[in-house]
Amino acid sequence: MIEEARLAGAASLMASAIDGRLVPSNARALVAAHDLVIEGADNFATKFLVADAARLERRAVVHAGVVRWAGYALATGPESRPCYRCLFEDLPREQPDTCAIAGVVGPLVALVGALQAELALAILLRRPGAHGRMSHVDALRGGPIRTRPLRARADCPTCSDVASLTAIEPTHYVHTPCD
Ligand SMILES: [Zn+2]
Repeated sequence: MIEEARLAGAASLMASAIDGRLVPSNARALVAAHDLVIEGADNFATKFLVADAARLERRAVVHAGVVRWAGYALATGPESRPCYRCLFEDLPREQPDTCAIAGVVGPLVALVGALQAELALAILLRRPGAHGRMSHVDALRGGPIRTRPLRARADCPTCSDVASLTAIEPTHYVHTPCD
């Protein structure tokens, strides 16, 4: 299914659904074929795969995640700093909680999805300030959505002066549990 929408002041936008899995062998091509990636994967391997493919293909990404009562949304630019690995570094060694294991508060998913949509529109409409900040919400504690700037890591393997990412290596996107 292909949908098209027009926004005031913007070129036409087209979203296309792809019936398939994003895996290391197709990640760069899929990401390169789009102007913006909205990532809502339920596992860190896919999140890092999207982030790395987008950096290599110079594409913006709007990331989001929700587990239990908390969620976040953040956007990374195609070449700007900080990037996703500045914040999360690498796949966790221990099996992290996922929404499938730990559960998730349904309405929070809708709220974080709305934050992602706002960031996506900001990027597509070229509004400044969309990249490099994270919005976080903790529904259990209540209170407002908190937004804070992200800091770039000096030794980030993806976006720093000593960046070493040059290709998608499939073995980098497999969860490796602790001994
Ligand atoms: Zn980085």
